[in-house]
Amino acid sequence: MKRAATTLLMSVLCLLITGCGAEKQLPSANKCFVRVLSTTGMIDDIVAKVGGDRVERQVLIIGEIDPHGYELVKGDDEKISESDLVFFNGLNLEHGASLRYKIISHAGAISLGDFVLKKYPEEILFDDTQPDPHIWMDVSLWAHVIEPVLNALAAKDPKGKEYYETRAHLAHEKMTEIHQRTRHKLQKVPESLRYLVTSHDAFAYFTRAYLCSDEERKDGSWKKRMAAPEGFSPDGQLGAADLQKIVDYLVEYRVHVVFPESNVSPDSLRKIVFASKEKGMKVRMSSEALYGDSMGPGGSASGNYLGMIDYDADVLIKEWSR
Ligand SMILES: [Zn+2]
Repeated sequence: MKRAATTLLMSVLCLLITGCGAEKQLPSANKCFVRVLSTTGMIDDIVAKVGGDRVERQVLIIGEIDPHGYELVKGDDEKISESDLVFFNGLNLEHGASLRYKIISHAGAISLGDFVLKKYPEEILFDDTQPDPHIWMDVSLWAHVIEPVLNALAAKDPKGKEYYETRAHLAHEKMTEIHQRTRHKLQKVPESLRYLVTSHDAFAYFTRAYLCSDEERKDGSWKKRMAAPEGFSPDGQLGAADLQKIVDYLVEYRVHVVFPESNVSPDSLRKIVFASKEKGMKVRMSSEALYGDSMGPGGSASGNYLGMIDYDADVLIKEWSR
């Protein structure tokens, strides 16, 4: 008995000293313990970081599709029903009736945005009573969703708890590093150029996190650093007043470049550029689109969450410096 206890103690000490335990306990890629469906690629990225090989992952809204108002297509029903957990953004991002209905009737559905709203209410932006759902556009804010993902995976698969915790910790560290690096490099762009005009209101969190000064963040004047002709959910409905508002903004802040987004029609911005030129202003459209509501193609530099943020920052720096 005593010998067995000593052997066990030695094994534990070995694991602690060498740190080899977590790696050696990794299951093979085809042995999964939790089936997870994420509504967006940005959520799936967090699930992959925390869940690793213990999780079988699927994404519902793939590619450059508008996640606002997404409606279920053939096969989606099964993907949702067959999953143990369904992580969705919430904050009214997924407001398509068929998807919303299916999500709320799934026992393992978890709204990551609502977790953040409840725990960090002061960090969520609102337009009147409507929350801004684009919380992934601030890496430090998006890092808050690691916690509910970790908790849900550990509850479904208690044997993997330590494995998930180790990965969650590493993910948090990496995201903190990228957050600071992104802010540092964007703050190097002269203040007079850091005015962001995009297709729809997807970049408020990004602007607050990376484009404004500390003082502007404190006093709320950071909001002047961004403008978009379309609201939280792009609908292509641009009235004369919306158009004029953006043209006035371009004049006031001497903005010379506007940024289309990968999953939104550039028509609104085209009209704005055209109207500005008619008034004799020099405004152009960036040749590269930003990634707001969806990540880049799989395998590309912007095809993962942190790569997407990095890509956006680099496009802005390049275009503002031209
Ligand atoms: Zn959006």
